Amino acid sequence: MDKITREQRSRNMAAIRSRGNQTTEIAFSKLLRANKITGWRRHSRRVFGVPDFIFQKEKVAIFIDGCFWHGCPRCKTQPKTNAKYWKLKIANNQKRDKEVKKQLIRDGWKVFRFWEHEIKKNPNRVMNKIVF
Ligand SMILES: [Zn+2]
Repeated sequence: MDKITREQRSRNMAAIRSRGNQTTEIAFSKLLRANKITGWRRHSRRVFGVPDFIFQKEKVAIFIDGCFWHGCPRCKTQPKTNAKYWKLKIANNQKRDKEVKKQLIRDGWKVFRFWEHEIKKNPNRVMNKIVF
């Protein structure tokens, strides 16, 4: 297998994973609706770090982290091709996650982060954690 093909494969994989992330957010919004929780918005650009979900009035920010993109320690989804590249990318995402959380807390927000696998496997536990 030559290099270009390998990079292309990684890119394709990234596209697939990226769509997976979207699906995760959709799953979470369905969960909110099923629990009759209202007053939330998605991807508010007015809030630092553009959280996946916010409750503006309560100042609650929720992030749903894709297990791949944010380096979930449980799912261990690291790809074998271009391992170095992905490791760096994921490490940067994690660094950014931390900075965003710190800043939001400084701004008076309550921050929740959930893993993609938690939404899939334990949706009720996730809902119980969101208390405000
Ligand atoms: Zn995971």
